[in-house]
Amino acid sequence: CGIVGYTGPRQALPLLLGGLERLEYRGYDSAGVAVVDDRSELHTARKAGQLRNLVAEVDAGLVPLDGHTGMGHTRWATHGGPTDRNAHPHTDTAGRAAVIHNGIIENFAPLRAELERDGVELSSDTDTEVVAHLLGATFATGPTAGDLPASLAAVCRRLEGTFTLVAVHADAPGVLVAARRNSPLVVGVGNGEMFVASDVAAFIAHTRDAVELGQDQLVTLTAEGYRVESFSGGEPDYRAFTVDWDL
Ligand code: GLU
Repeated sequence: CGIVGYTGPRQALPLLLGGLERLEYRGYDSAGVAVVDDRSELHTARKAGQLRNLVAEVDAGLVPLDGHTGMGHTRWATHGGPTDRNAHPHTDTAGRAAVIHNGIIENFAPLRAELERDGVELSSDTDTEVVAHLLGATFATGPTAGDLPASLAAVCRRLEGTFTLVAVHADAPGVLVAARRNSPLVVGVGNGEMFVASDVAAFIAHTRDAVELGQDQLVTLTAEGYRVESFSGGEPDYRAFTVDWDL
């Protein structure tokens, strides 16, 4: 439902929680965050119910969530009940790849069956979790191994339905990738830092320089900048603009 991501020199967590708060008006039933730390470890926290439940979990300090690259999600459940285990982010079995998702993966059932045939045990009832496992596998081996944007592009080509996806991988520190089809995705261009969100409201307190992605596009963000490509072929046609209105 609501999506925000950050990479740059600042601690990601407060920016992610602040961004999710700005997206609360959309309604949601659970919330979560993922952060990659400076030792290349991925940590996630997710909680059913109000954002304050997640904040209480984060404040309890059970999970270390320091790091400069991360993403946050508020979920409006379509597949699987509004529980902790169905809340985003979802990760692969190794706990190295994480994704958040708005929308519906229409062909999740055959993808899930394929993963189960390969011995993968899924740990949620969502349509989203398949994307985390496919991304982890595509990043681990094959022609796109070690290349997070190319791996996400390859996975997106296999998906049907509507999606805004944001992904991180513990072995790609400082990199945030995001892709969209029939669901909004906006980049916030800061000074030495980058944001991504489902809605400019999530980052407008930090930058008003934005880029709206077109259909079937993928963006790679690092602190230094962004690169847009099309994951289904052709030249990407995207639009840079300034948010000159107040929310
Ligand atoms: N279909 C996904 C789920 O139910 C994402 C829902 C959303 O857009 O928040 O987990």
